[in-house]
Amino acid sequence: MKFEGATATGSHKINTAVAQAYYAGKEGIEEVVTETGAGQWGTATALAATMNGIRSTVFMVKVSYEQKPLRKKIMSLYGARVYASPSTETPFGRSVLEKEPGHPGSLGGIAISEATEYALEHGIRYLVGSVMNAVLTHQSVIGLETQKQLELMGEEANVLIGCVGGGSNFGGGFTYPFIGQGKEVEAIASTAEEVPKLSRGESSGTTGWTRLASCRR
Ligand SMILES: *Cc1c(COP(=O)(O)O)cnc(C)c1O
Repeated sequence: MKFEGATATGSHKINTAVAQAYYAGKEGIEEVVTETGAGQWGTATALAATMNGIRSTVFMVKVSYEQKPLRKKIMSLYGARVYASPSTETPFGRSVLEKEPGHPGSLGGIAISEATEYALEHGIRYLVGSVMNAVLTHQSVIGLETQKQLELMGEEANVLIGCVGGGSNFGGGFTYPFIGQGKEVEAIASTAEEVPKLSRGESSGTTGWTRLASCRR
């Protein structure tokens, strides 16, 4: 078992956050912004930004912000400014609050809109979590490291099992480095029953796991 949760940010997301913040810094960007649900992506963004000398702002889904105060704390410790979303920081957040002051927030509908709007308004960089194909490349460090670890143990993988959310951990990350090496491996993806991205609905897939994961119910 390879356990990415043992990282300082609690998930594999730091692998791509570091790369994205690094390139943003190289381009002279001084601040990055993103959204987070449970907090893993926001935490990764906060630490990666600080490691690269950049400020960070995170819009965190309000219900999660209230249920998990320690996650807000760790993002703040890593240097991020964290807002509960919907917030009063953006025109979109304000419009949601006007209609429904007690709105619990949502990741896809509201927090992403706030983060992108904030990025456009302030001329800063928006960092993407699991959903863009380039993220697969950054996450390939998971599989490449696994290969070295297995080598040290004198073992070979014949079955790879991983979880799929947006697809970057399982796809590019864990399994792709093993595929196409002339050895037979079986790659098994597991998804939550509540969000059966690969096992039910229609696949509109043309461009890899991230597309495959966006089926309709
Ligand atoms: C984001 C996340 C996932 C899903 O990863 P994807 O790369 O989006 O499939 C799984 N587990 C944890 C702990 C995460 O933070």
